[in-house]
Amino acid sequence: MARDDQVLFVQKVPPTLAEMSGAEVRERLEVTRTVLIPVGATEDHGPHLPLGTDTMEGREICRRTAVRLEEMGCPVMVAPAVPFGTSSFHMGFAGTITISSATLVALLREIAMSLYQGGFRNFVFIHGHDGNLSSMMVAAQEVVDDTPDAKAVVCNWLAALSAVYHTVQTSTKGEGHGGEGETSRLLVTHPELVHPERAAPHHIDPDVMRKIQGPDHVKAGGGIYYGTRSYRDVTPYGHIGDPTLAKPETGEKGYAVIVDWLSAVIKRDFFDQPR
Ligand SMILES: [Zn+2]
Repeated sequence: MARDDQVLFVQKVPPTLAEMSGAEVRERLEVTRTVLIPVGATEDHGPHLPLGTDTMEGREICRRTAVRLEEMGCPVMVAPAVPFGTSSFHMGFAGTITISSATLVALLREIAMSLYQGGFRNFVFIHGHDGNLSSMMVAAQEVVDDTPDAKAVVCNWLAALSAVYHTVQTSTKGEGHGGEGETSRLLVTHPELVHPERAAPHHIDPDVMRKIQGPDHVKAGGGIYYGTRSYRDVTPYGHIGDPTLAKPETGEKGYAVIVDWLSAVIKRDFFDQPR
């Protein structure tokens, strides 16, 4: 049993809206009406990672992107990370929480519309869990449909990262959910919650892997969407790949690719060409 004064993990700045006062938000609205909204999940990631991995990654991606954009003269705010997503295919593992696509669409639309009432106009939905992408796209369109002047985009950084996986990860065997890359990213921010020694490598049939996240899949930048069956059927452990290869340096490389792409897209579409 941990002592009750033990620190669980450290969260770096900038704060999300949840850690700012209303006065601080109003002051910040004088310089930016753009908000990054991390959309995570609570789902099994194997024996070595916490269930909130995708939520933590989503928040960190937005945090780092906000820092970079500030340096580029493009200030933004960050919304609290949404901790639930559509995780139906992880329900074979205890602790996973899934919400329906319809619930996620409504949740994201209502988050954006609440912020719109307060003066925000630009909404950037950024996933920590690619299973949320389709609902995020529907929500973004509904926000545009329901307002005269809001802009809403969904940024799928996984496509940019997938294109250069071979320069980021050391494994050549197919790293996926909870594998080398994702474990490395969590090692950067939450080393206290990561236990690679509890996990063994688990690689799956290459054809099944291709349909989960191969280059043909829309989430990796391709043109085909494959519906996902239960992960329990392909991995009894919950993860795919070799988490024992994970290193913080690999996580830093992955974040660099993601943040380079996101900050360039957001600068172009919301600051350089704001129409
Ligand atoms: Zn994940």
